[in-house]
Amino acid sequence: MQYRRFGKTNLQLSVFSLGTMRCLSSAEVASRTLAQAVDLGVNHIETAQGYGHSEVYLNQGLRDLPQEAPLHITTKLPPTPDAATMQRGIDTSLQRLGVDYIDNLALHGVNTPEHLAWVQQPDGCMAAIRAAVEAGKVGFVGFSTHAPLEVILAAINTDLFDFVNLHYYYFWQRNEAAIAFAAEKDMGVFIISPADKGGQLYTPPETLKQLCAPFSPLQLNYRFLLRDRRITTLSVGAAKPEELHEPLSYGDDVDPLSEQEQATFQRLEAQAETKLSRDRCRQCYQCLPCPETINIPEVLRLRNLAVAYDMSDFGQYRYRMFENAGHWFWGRKGSRCTDCGDCLPRCPENLDIPALLRDTHKKLNGSPRRRLWG
Ligand code: SF4
Ligand code: SF4
Repeated sequence: MQYRRFGKTNLQLSVFSLGTMRCLSSAEVASRTLAQAVDLGVNHIETAQGYGHSEVYLNQGLRDLPQEAPLHITTKLPPTPDAATMQRGIDTSLQRLGVDYIDNLALHGVNTPEHLAWVQQPDGCMAAIRAAVEAGKVGFVGFSTHAPLEVILAAINTDLFDFVNLHYYYFWQRNEAAIAFAAEKDMGVFIISPADKGGQLYTPPETLKQLCAPFSPLQLNYRFLLRDRRITTLSVGAAKPEELHEPLSYGDDVDPLSEQEQATFQRLEAQAETKLSRDRCRQCYQCLPCPETINIPEVLRLRNLAVAYDMSDFGQYRYRMFENAGHWFWGRKGSRCTDCGDCLPRCPENLDIPALLRDTHKKLNGSPRRRLWG
């Protein structure tokens, strides 16, 4: 397992972190998963007050570990407009975790301009967080985000944060500018859920498997991220110990991409060009805003993946979250298009956006899906 400096926190974190969002079945399984992760070199655990019993299970798991196990913990609390709620939240998390100090506290989901305004309010949640830092209860402060890129860049630019937890994967590179800006600000960078949100890569379709051979799709995505020195650590959201083995076996694969890996990425790119041809959305985001608040680029990205790589299951999983996950996954479904035509002159690819949205809806819609927690 390799370790990297977590930006200005100066913590040396393992390049894989245990994310505990799915460690929810029992204290016993959570404990065994934690012990296995530590045994394999993980020294950073990420949880949240919103993840059900996760903090309490982690408390038990921490007590079961050998004393000498060097561990860093991040927990997360939602942003609030007032300081008092945040102060109570911090004390609750410390008590649930059974610790009097936590390395990292992240605002959980700075997802909208309103959340960012709360963060910048002098008497908002940051006042309580600063007090907790001064009282020695919290080491460093960050934020996790599912926000549009502009909000993330603005949050980084406040200079209030030491680290950021965000989405960025081979199949979704929209946040590259946020990674670059965070690195420029010497912030730690934690990548949320590369296996699941990165494309449900633990259950890849046959087409994708063949295109990625001799590598696995999961391995290639990890390599895409691990060779990037701006990124500190990737979360592994294991629900049980066995799910750690494959991801953590890549913990030393941090070198630049080999020629064979580069050729494989080129093969993936060529497949997208061939399969999507003139219907390929290039993810430039210039079509926004849509008066019906359709997240056009994200809808069409899911279509790109389904058409190019047969990633329809992943596409359905994400598409069904539109209109069902609030600010965690913004935007309405493609079927809401009224053919107003506003987006058309802004698309440099001259795509027939309404037709492609309808096609995506037909391919990927189904029964609604909600977030796993909260
Ligand atoms: S044509 Fe459809 S997708 Fe484009 S801006 Fe109008 S409603 Fe939105
Ligand atoms: S403007 Fe066109 S190519 Fe760019 S994201 Fe929108 S639909 Fe895709």
